[in-house]
Amino acid sequence: MATNTSMHVIKNEDPVIATESLANDSLAKEYFDKKQKLDEYFASGATQSLSWRKRQLKAVLSLLITEEKAISEALHSDLKKSQEEAYITEIGYLRKDVKYLLKHVEKWMKPKRVGTPLLAMPAKSIIRPEPLGTCLVIGAWNYPFQLAISPMLAAISAGNCVILKPSDLAPATSALIAKLLPKYLDMNAVAIIEGGKEETTELLTLNFDKIFFTGGEYVGKIVMKAAAKHLTPVTLELGGKSPCIIDKNVDLAIALNRMVWGKLINVGQTCIAPDYLMVHQSNLDNVVAELKKVLEKQYGKNPETNKFYGRIVDENHCARLVSYLDNQNVIFGGKHNIKDKYLSPTIVLNPDNNSPLMQEEIFGPIIPIISFSGRSDMLKFITARAKPLAAYVFTEDKEFEEKFIERVSAGSVCVNDTALFWVNPNAPVGGVGTSGMGRYHGKFGFDTFSHEKSILKRNFSFENSIRYMPLNKFKTWIFKRFLR
Ligand code: NAD
Repeated sequence: MATNTSMHVIKNEDPVIATESLANDSLAKEYFDKKQKLDEYFASGATQSLSWRKRQLKAVLSLLITEEKAISEALHSDLKKSQEEAYITEIGYLRKDVKYLLKHVEKWMKPKRVGTPLLAMPAKSIIRPEPLGTCLVIGAWNYPFQLAISPMLAAISAGNCVILKPSDLAPATSALIAKLLPKYLDMNAVAIIEGGKEETTELLTLNFDKIFFTGGEYVGKIVMKAAAKHLTPVTLELGGKSPCIIDKNVDLAIALNRMVWGKLINVGQTCIAPDYLMVHQSNLDNVVAELKKVLEKQYGKNPETNKFYGRIVDENHCARLVSYLDNQNVIFGGKHNIKDKYLSPTIVLNPDNNSPLMQEEIFGPIIPIISFSGRSDMLKFITARAKPLAAYVFTEDKEFEEKFIERVSAGSVCVNDTALFWVNPNAPVGGVGTSGMGRYHGKFGFDTFSHEKSILKRNFSFENSIRYMPLNKFKTWIFKRFLR
């Protein structure tokens, strides 16, 4: 744990030193003090017991049930999310999440007996997960409630203290988190710090035991650089351009309904949303025609007035998305109102690979379609790019499916659907390469916030002096028999 009791840590965490390069002395002092209180509470051992962990998890479950309306309203205010979508993708998701943790945490906490080699016998070997200490959780704005609370739950289930920094771009949700958590949680173990760049920069000067960051690659690098100063372990849940392949001979109505669902939920502002489509040349016209049909079926002729079509988070992001359409072949949609943060579902045909639309993560309702004529060229196109958070393939060809899974390195791969893997607590969620490092969900989240301490226990009943100095020919002969 990064307590403030060792000389080394005091030096690193001294707020005066920390503020040398920073503008705001009072923030530095406030954050330093908050973290110190959490460190002291952690050092008291209060967060270690199963009963404490379960009490906190149950309190969050009760928050999710009691405060459903307030959460839903905050999400509507930030992203114009419908009540139904807010429930499915944030509140309901978290209810499942916390129940899963409650069900399994006792088992995960238990020390595990492992084998011991003959050389160290007689002895018992044990692996025992221990909490890391005080962890910083930084949330993103697109699922601003889920992506702040879910990692915090994982940290608490593993027995840690947490400073939670929700995203400033979802101000209503951030304020609600800051208001609600103190009503339910043991605030000796949790602190909420609201704010954006300035506040996060200040927080990152502190010596945490773990930083769990959800956001973009750019800030991810800032986080990792700051963490390196203290050798703090980081989990970076980032994004990227997730490809989606529509192979020949698939049922287009099913495939495109599934694709549109994953792409347009939350108006495309989903880290694992399919970013661009790759469609076999022979199928291009059919795909375009079916896609237009599906878009109208799911969102109507005028998505602007459809309550299930939310808004882009702010005008800057909306203007960024609209600018992606410059000089592109827009064959569907493209209607926008930046003041209202609105951009309709939009299809762009064969965009230039060097255009911002194909160079940056879209994170919005634009669907670029790229046609390909040979599967191996298509695979080359994908593998030449940064490793994505997710990769999707719609195909009925098992051989090609296997080749795709083998060749395309991605955080997760999903065959014949999109985004659904997120809800499976039995499999990890996390990126690879520039789409992130580390993972969470279910036991993987518990492990992310734990250290697996290895313990070797012996007693005094048997003494073998063979390893003691001085070594001799006989002892060396014995060792050579064991160590080969
Ligand atoms: P972001 O990187 O802009 O911001 C993330 C957090 O960092 C916010 O809390 C923000 O306040 C803070 N921040 C912003 N600028 C900062 C700076 N200069 N210094 C320090 N802190 C700063 O990301 P975002 O816009 O909130 O989210 C969008 C990105 O997140 C997309 O790339 C998306 O793919 C990714 N994402 C990933 C996941 C995942 O689970 N892998 C989930 C959601 C979003």
